[in-house]
Amino acid sequence: MNHKQRDEHAPYAIDAMLHAWMRQAGDPATPSRFVRIDARAIADAHAGIIDHASLVLERAQNENIVRYAHRTSDLPSQWIDPAIPCLTLHNQLLMPALVNAHTHLDLTHIGPHPHDPDDGFVHWVDIIRTRRAQTDEEIAGCVRQGIEKSLAGGVIAVGDIAGAPSGRLTQAPVRTLAASPLLGVSFLEFFGMGKAAAGTIKRLEAFLSGHLASILVETAESGVRFGLQPHAPNTIDLGVYRWITQAALARNLPLSTHLAETLEEREFIASASGPQWELLERLGVWDDSILTHIGKGRSPIEHLHEVLAMKPYLVAHVNDADDSGIQMLAETGTSVAYCPRASAYFHAATRFGPHRYRDMLDAGINVCLGTDSIVNLDTPDRISTLDDMRLLYAQGDRDPKRLLAMATTNGAIALGLDPMSFTLQTGAEPAGIISIDLEASCEEKDAWASALQGYNAPSWLI
Ligand SMILES: [Zn+2]
Repeated sequence: MNHKQRDEHAPYAIDAMLHAWMRQAGDPATPSRFVRIDARAIADAHAGIIDHASLVLERAQNENIVRYAHRTSDLPSQWIDPAIPCLTLHNQLLMPALVNAHTHLDLTHIGPHPHDPDDGFVHWVDIIRTRRAQTDEEIAGCVRQGIEKSLAGGVIAVGDIAGAPSGRLTQAPVRTLAASPLLGVSFLEFFGMGKAAAGTIKRLEAFLSGHLASILVETAESGVRFGLQPHAPNTIDLGVYRWITQAALARNLPLSTHLAETLEEREFIASASGPQWELLERLGVWDDSILTHIGKGRSPIEHLHEVLAMKPYLVAHVNDADDSGIQMLAETGTSVAYCPRASAYFHAATRFGPHRYRDMLDAGINVCLGTDSIVNLDTPDRISTLDDMRLLYAQGDRDPKRLLAMATTNGAIALGLDPMSFTLQTGAEPAGIISIDLEASCEEKDAWASALQGYNAPSWLI
């Protein structure tokens, strides 16, 4: 795991606290390699919630290695040593830094935007199309805003969808993400349906042969990988999906796409009609060749099944999934980035029923959390899957291990990162540790409930 400099963006609280501790202790000549933190609770995907817990970290250069993460009452005597600095965070819950497996950092400048579901999805797509940044300089600025808001939400790794303004493929987002403290994948997004399909393949061929080598060199040490994102089944020919999947296989590049998100997509894929068809007509890209693969009565997952079987994808949303669709996702090793607040924003549950993420997990699918863009969020100051865990908690999901796995280890797996770096297990080197200030009433209820019922932004411990 690559550990990047983060302090100028999000100061490590631990450094200031250690400094204060050492001043009080009379500035010991050799600072301890270890630090112990006694917290109200610690939480991760493996252990769940451990109340009244201590975390012992070994601090080595840029790394922090977990040496103990369990109940304070069970602390072995070696960690109860006056020479080891001990910080007390009695009203804090500590957890690994988070993963946001699906977001669009280059839309951050738009900010949260109210949406009337009666306007339909295509109306919303038009807003995004007209407000998207166009020049590389503007795009890099928007991505940087998104990085700051991710850090403000305790997120250290992202699956970022890098849009192509007016079809122009740009390296600005992947370079900006690689230069930032964040880890993850920058998925270059593109459209290509009907009359636009051949031109899309040509542009992608030119981009990959002209720029991929230098992108790979520049991102090699950054903890950020370059990936590809055909937009969605209603905007990408099946032939383009096949071509890009082959291209990604040949170059070992990660793949992502939107899938089974809206009723409009379901209608278009099944019967080549509805608002998505009208949009393609309006954009002048419809031609009847589309009818060779669209309008066959298939569901979006069924439609994409043969492509998913070629190479595992990370697919966003999947609001629309029946039992056989879930089976197909499981069999093909597809990861699902469920975006709870995006689904709520578009009232997906009233159209498709509650999201089936629990059934998907039970079927063996790697389900992780994403936020989608800030446009559909209710947190203008941050972009964080913490708030998506909070929504699922409010909807009755009381399993902390499940929520934490979706917001940390499963997201890491989906992005090709080491899941251990998103735990607090003994021996782990966490990519970051965040803390959540609990409500004053915390002593009366459990720490997890306090953390997830609150609205606080997290802070960075390390
Ligand atoms: Zn998206």
